[in-house]
Amino acid sequence: PVVTRFAPSPTGFLHIGGARTALFNWLFARANGGKFLLRIEDTDRARSTPEATEAIFAGLKWLGLDWDDEAVSQFERIERHAEVAQELLAKGAAYKCFSTQEEIAQYRETAKDEGRSTVFRSPWRDATDLPDAPYVVRLRAPRDGETVVEDVVQGRVAWKNETLDDLILLRSDGTPTYMLAVVVDDHDMGVTHVIRGDDHLTNAARQVLILDAMEWSRPTYAHIPLIHGEDGAKFSKRHGAPGVEDYRDMGYPAEAMRNYLARLSWSHGDEEFFTTEQAIEWFGLDTISKGAARFDFKKLDNLSGQHLRAMDDVELTELLTDYMALQQMPVPNQDTRAKLTVAMPALKDRAKKIPDLLEMGHYLLTARPIEMDEKAAAQINDVSRGMLERLTVRLRNANWSHNDLEAAIKAFAGEEELKLGKVMQPMRSVLTGRSTSPSIFDVLVHLGREESLARIDDMLA
Ligand code: GLU
Repeated sequence: PVVTRFAPSPTGFLHIGGARTALFNWLFARANGGKFLLRIEDTDRARSTPEATEAIFAGLKWLGLDWDDEAVSQFERIERHAEVAQELLAKGAAYKCFSTQEEIAQYRETAKDEGRSTVFRSPWRDATDLPDAPYVVRLRAPRDGETVVEDVVQGRVAWKNETLDDLILLRSDGTPTYMLAVVVDDHDMGVTHVIRGDDHLTNAARQVLILDAMEWSRPTYAHIPLIHGEDGAKFSKRHGAPGVEDYRDMGYPAEAMRNYLARLSWSHGDEEFFTTEQAIEWFGLDTISKGAARFDFKKLDNLSGQHLRAMDDVELTELLTDYMALQQMPVPNQDTRAKLTVAMPALKDRAKKIPDLLEMGHYLLTARPIEMDEKAAAQINDVSRGMLERLTVRLRNANWSHNDLEAAIKAFAGEEELKLGKVMQPMRSVLTGRSTSPSIFDVLVHLGREESLARIDDMLA
């Protein structure tokens, strides 16, 4: 059975690159009826914070990437890591190295001066007479031949062993190194597929050496290309928001975010827009590409708009309400929610993100007296007031349906010899307080007769 894992270090927020890594692991596990595990790599006590761990949980939850079993804390497992180091020592696959930092620095300097490889070769590798002094535990790595990683995405990657040093497994204070911890945890957690950023590719070379030394089987590796900005540089703050919660705050639906992130270095034919269920059905490691993905906000907006339009209007109203709560805005009551749902087809028509729905639906979310923004207020003068006054007489008698209202207003504009816009813009101002909204006929219907007429009367008073 497939077991994948996401293993973030809790030193900040959930980065967009991390979110994509998590998504691929989740998709692959779900696609294969396997498990998706979460491991918090919190051994760096100075940099790891509980807040960062919470941010990772929150980011994953928002994205809908549910993990199986309880999240594992790497720090809590350090005794187990040390135990494996002892096992390697006992079987001669590791050794105690007493070289000091200064000695190692000196070794490298001399090697450099003499034009030799600066890869440190410990004099303690084969020593038998050991001093009573501080030491680190190093892996007795092979020095001839090469270390090969068969990577599903990168292909066959080989390192000459002469370029790899005897990596440290335990530091002189007895704490395990990151390299050891990852291998032991992946093994103990039964991880079958390691899917992670290709910045970890060289770590894989070191990690397989530890696996081989323990005679543990290797997982399948898939090192995925990092996400880049539009200029080709590694995606960072200056390209836009780097944290996944920023996208939640900007109002992208999680479903759209999953769709967009899935498309970064993975594809299924020409499909751009798809549901998460489809992604699960189609996902495979063989269709991950090697080329760096570029983060493209236009594409994200476009997909996001499509997802909003594909959503059920009740669901969309809920999404909108949740978003308002998240933004600490007053949450609409049942009655307003029902109105929003009815209006949703008009609100979502050109929306890209949830705030666009708020903007378009502003007229349903504000109460009388309507405050006009500057552009809206500029529509109101003596001439337009007079016109609105005459128009309301008509509206009072109109049948309150889209078609009847449209007919009445068009007839009125005809009689007054006014272009339709000259009637609609002032109406929009008094009904919505804004200069953009859905069609005025829709607005009138959504607000209802009483509220519409009251809004116009407020202004005429
Ligand atoms: N903790 C590492 C990181 O945050 C990931 C290690 C791994 O996936 O093997 O980049």
